Amino acid sequence: MCAAATYLRDVFGFDSFRPGQEEIVDAVVHGENVLAIMPTGGGKSLCFQLPALAREGVTVVISPLIALMRDQVRALREAGVEAGALTSGNTDEETAAVWDALDEGRLKLLYMAPERLGSGAALGMLRRIGVSLIAVDEAHCVSQWGHDFRPDYLRIGDLRRALNVPLAAFTATADAETRDEIVQRLFDGEAPSTFLRGFDRPNIHLAFAAKDGPRRQILDFAAARKGQSGIVYCGTRAKTESLAAALRDAGHLSMHYHGGMDPADRRNAETRFQREDGMIVVATVAFGMGIDKPDIRWVAHADLPKSIEAYYQEIGRAGRDGAPAETLTLFGPDDIRLRRSQIDEGLAPPERRVADHARLNALLGLAEALKCRRQSLLNYFGETEISCGNCDLCDRPAEIFDGTIAVRKALSAALRTGEWFGSGHLIDVLLGNETEKVKERGHTSLPTFGVGREYNKRQWQVIFRQMMGRDLLRPDPERHGGLRMTDDALPLLKGEASIDLRQDTISKADRRPAAKA
Ligand code: ADP
Repeated sequence: MCAAATYLRDVFGFDSFRPGQEEIVDAVVHGENVLAIMPTGGGKSLCFQLPALAREGVTVVISPLIALMRDQVRALREAGVEAGALTSGNTDEETAAVWDALDEGRLKLLYMAPERLGSGAALGMLRRIGVSLIAVDEAHCVSQWGHDFRPDYLRIGDLRRALNVPLAAFTATADAETRDEIVQRLFDGEAPSTFLRGFDRPNIHLAFAAKDGPRRQILDFAAARKGQSGIVYCGTRAKTESLAAALRDAGHLSMHYHGGMDPADRRNAETRFQREDGMIVVATVAFGMGIDKPDIRWVAHADLPKSIEAYYQEIGRAGRDGAPAETLTLFGPDDIRLRRSQIDEGLAPPERRVADHARLNALLGLAEALKCRRQSLLNYFGETEISCGNCDLCDRPAEIFDGTIAVRKALSAALRTGEWFGSGHLIDVLLGNETEKVKERGHTSLPTFGVGREYNKRQWQVIFRQMMGRDLLRPDPERHGGLRMTDDALPLLKGEASIDLRQDTISKADRRPAAKA
């Protein structure tokens, strides 16, 4: 048995590696520079802890969270591994003990907060103690346009150059820009051995549905799973409270949870969820970080999450035990508008806004996918998948039709009205409705006026939603949400490209009377 496998069993008490772990451990043990992208909970820590034992010398672990470092150090010590942390959370005795262990050459893993790298003394110390490996946890913190940017992470590149030892970087953030930034800043642009594994959670069934009486949709979904533990994510605090009440009225065990609650109430909700069977928590994104409940059987989104990463994290809380789990994500044009305006009106620098729009686009693409959802999802994370057989589109393939003409009409309506209007007005123009606004703006004389009568209002709403979902039209915050064409729309408008749309959602819209504007 190789050394790594022995440590796996004897020190960590695991029988086998998780998907991806063994290759990463091998590469790190052999001194390669490594970038490993694994989902949260995939077992990243083992991928540097085990090589730290297998290699001579000390492994320095840079991590952004003091609490996490302390947990890992405690767990390692309990397993008989010499590990210590130097953080601002230390008592003097703890720090002294770490120094003693270092001086005596006993320490195998030294955890450090990135702030520590700022002092010259730290570098001198690290040179002296014989560091043989640098491990960087949450490596995406080095990305200036990411959500977790930590300026001190920028020092890690200097540290690697100064010590001239291999570096292994770990993150769960998979988008290409972040990956490139990590390579630039931690590895000076020299491509490390890169591993990307374990994003698939095959036991989780994926499904999306357009909002169509969302409260009823969630109640129906929960009713079909009565007695099972589940989470419903909502976009607002108020909605968590009203939906939790509606679920209780329907006979479920249900509590709400959001960041505006008393810490004691929040803890109570967490504890009850962990302990009681069949509890439904209706929550904002504030819920979930510290929840370690393996048998969550379903996760529903009453509103569209803010990005594909957020979606993946949130559905990923279901089915940790590996048994079948189900998800349902609701979305509508209002969600798209809201999420876009949150990005546009946020304080983030322009580059980050572009990246945030791209993350939202990826999620909308998933929502409006024409075939296997897992394929779209895993593609985003860089993994490949043939039809999964465990999503709504594999269960029942979407009917599609060539929507080029409809899309071209809609784009032309937007363009000819100066890109100042929302879908409601544009649909009036397409249907030839002589509303006050249409007459007042002189839009009855446009060539597009009345050219879209083959569809009714609801059908056009679905077409516009699909177009926004594919990022052909975007609400412009500087024009009160007026829809503007994106560059992707140009070839369609010019007749140089064609586009498929989903027929089923449009036919379904046909069966109901047109909704009020
Ligand atoms: P993350 O990737 O989020 O850092 P962790 O390293 O904390 O994940 O691992 C998540 C959980 O998986 C931990 O409880 C850890 O003990 C467990 N784990 C890691 N590797 C294995 C393995 N090979 N076999 C069984 N459990 C494992």
